[in-house]
Amino acid sequence: MEQNNNYHVLLYYKFVPIDDPVTFSEEHLAFCQDLGLKGRIMVANEGLNGTVSGTVEQTEAYMAAMHNDSRFADMTFKVDKHDGHAFKKMHVRHRPEIVSLKMNEDEAVSPLEKTATFLSPKEFYDAMQDEETVILDARNDYEYDLGHFRGAIRPDIETFRDLPDWIRENKDQLKDKKVLTYCTGGIRCEKFTGWLMNEGIEDVNQLDGGIVSYGKDPDVQGELWDGRCYVFDKRISVPINQNEHVIVGKDYFDGHPCERYVNCANPDCNKQIICSEENEHKYMRGCTHECRVSRDNLYVREHSLSQEEFNQKLANIEEENQSKQDA
Ligand SMILES: [Zn+2]
Repeated sequence: MEQNNNYHVLLYYKFVPIDDPVTFSEEHLAFCQDLGLKGRIMVANEGLNGTVSGTVEQTEAYMAAMHNDSRFADMTFKVDKHDGHAFKKMHVRHRPEIVSLKMNEDEAVSPLEKTATFLSPKEFYDAMQDEETVILDARNDYEYDLGHFRGAIRPDIETFRDLPDWIRENKDQLKDKKVLTYCTGGIRCEKFTGWLMNEGIEDVNQLDGGIVSYGKDPDVQGELWDGRCYVFDKRISVPINQNEHVIVGKDYFDGHPCERYVNCANPDCNKQIICSEENEHKYMRGCTHECRVSRDNLYVREHSLSQEEFNQKLANIEEENQSKQDA
């Protein structure tokens, strides 16, 4: 990979009617491939949601072309510098929705019809410090665990689609409060907050442009954000708070401060865990004993562990567990 900063990563979305998403997707894929971009774009009747990487020239050409299309003329691009592509391939896929909540069609709310009040980073920053405010993280639990706004509620959900169920069970925390929601780039909040208002939560506000824009804002400079922001590309996470770096991530195995995400080496599990390099080697990147001894353990293959080495590592873990229990 070329080591320079001449690459940009773009994050963007727009809720706008697209009449024929299938044809649009095919043409858009050809267009992106011609430009040399890599990334992931989703297209639906309700709009477009994408993140792509390319050289400065490629990404500039893409943004100019999109802004020339009246449907996307005012689409906001969040632009990050990077030292290469952030993706392996270019995908454009048509889907029923560009971001999905697990709900029946009659419950779903189109952001074109209803969505919460948009707060600028500065307005969001001020509102967070009001005692009557509840800050609700609209992302998945593993994203929250790596970084979040100070004092934000962590919904106990593994995927965004489970958020409606969680809200219904925890409504008491939100009722009669000023609710602030946020997510990575803003798209999940835009989709989800209309539904939240229909559930009877009245004062709902969303962070315009999401965490990524908040981190770039010259006034707030990412203040009151702790940790790093999880992103869905090769980078895995990006910094947000420009002035202070508080590590909130905790090592899955020993609880020490850590910000390094890996996937469990058992391909059938693939769970994302925060863990140090040392513990990755110690636990053979397996999140449980079952995952460690799985036949397909990728760590064992990558490191060509002999049966003897493998047994020795298991014995070390066993010994440590014993001494913990005895203590
Ligand atoms: Zn596992």
